[in-house]
Amino acid sequence: MKTPINILLVGPSGAGKGTQAKLLAERYDLRHLQSGELLRKIVAKDDEFGRKVKDAMQKGFVPSEWIFKMIKEEFSRLGNTGVVIDGFSRKLPEIEMLYDVLGEHERKLNYIFLLELDDEKVIDRLINRRVCSACKKVFDSRSLKDKNICPLCGEQVYTREDDNLESIKNRLGDYKTETSKVIDFIKNRDSIIVIDGDRSINEVFEDICDKIK
Ligand SMILES: [Zn+2]
Repeated sequence: MKTPINILLVGPSGAGKGTQAKLLAERYDLRHLQSGELLRKIVAKDDEFGRKVKDAMQKGFVPSEWIFKMIKEEFSRLGNTGVVIDGFSRKLPEIEMLYDVLGEHERKLNYIFLLELDDEKVIDRLINRRVCSACKKVFDSRSLKDKNICPLCGEQVYTREDDNLESIKNRLGDYKTETSKVIDFIKNRDSIIVIDGDRSINEVFEDICDKIK
């Protein structure tokens, strides 16, 4: 039985973690674990816990314990499938819990990629980020012929609620304060591969894949 590979992507929002994680999941046949997606799945169930999560998301704060309740359930269903994880390492308690969960399932992180992108570029990307309401693909509004329409499926695209300047700046501030602690925690256990996120999606992806080979 081959050992599943486990990858963690770290970096500010807008650096391309989600996009790269999806590509990695396809190429290496991995399960993509992302907190936002797990939360949306719970909300869609519309049971008591789902409504609690929805309420918390609207208030902009979901307790880390809830997120880890979900990630634990996901891991117990994984079997021998590898994972690519993005979005569970914004704060020190999150990365601590992530290592705990991995340990419980006798998994180690084989590759940890830090996607770097400077503030101005993060803001520029997030302000222009659009998501398709149907196929969920992410676009840069400047690349869209029709600003409101998904070029892949023809449905409406929208701006995420938290992709406004104030929220973006808040997230960047949080990221800076917390990220050095997170990085230190990881460095004490594993090695981090730094990736320049200021390139095209394909260039970044091929760079990451080269490191995996
Ligand atoms: Zn679409």
